[in-house]
Amino acid sequence: MRYEDLMKVRSCPFCPKRLNDPDCHQVIYQANKAALMVNRAPYVKDHLMVVPLRHVTSVESLTQAESQGTRKLVMRAVSLLKKRGHKAYSILVRQGKDSGKSVQHVHVHVIPDVVVTDKEHASAERPVMTERKLNGLVRIYQKLLDI
Ligand SMILES: [Zn+2]
Repeated sequence: MRYEDLMKVRSCPFCPKRLNDPDCHQVIYQANKAALMVNRAPYVKDHLMVVPLRHVTSVESLTQAESQGTRKLVMRAVSLLKKRGHKAYSILVRQGKDSGKSVQHVHVHVIPDVVVTDKEHASAERPVMTERKLNGLVRIYQKLLDI
């Protein structure tokens, strides 16, 4: 089965009704308003995912309990990856149309041994900010936080 075929099913693949569907994703553990699962279409071997059990489309909409439950299971996923011998991992949440998010239900990727970026890590595409520009940006964010 190809990923695009998997995505043709209309119901949300991360909602409880489909979580245990063998054609979708396999739940490893479920607790605290969230589920930890194996990604059926992994970027790499041992690619895990955590989803809140309620259909929520943005991280800002998670309740405190869902957010804490999701975080606990992300830490369990990290623990599992370490037990499987992985020494590095990336945690990724895609949000918004331009992020590449293909399923609207919030999901946290826990991906072992891969650099997650669309730019070469040490290339000229990745400029380093001047101290002045950096300080200006920090002040803008501090104003936005009202601190
Ligand atoms: Zn859903």
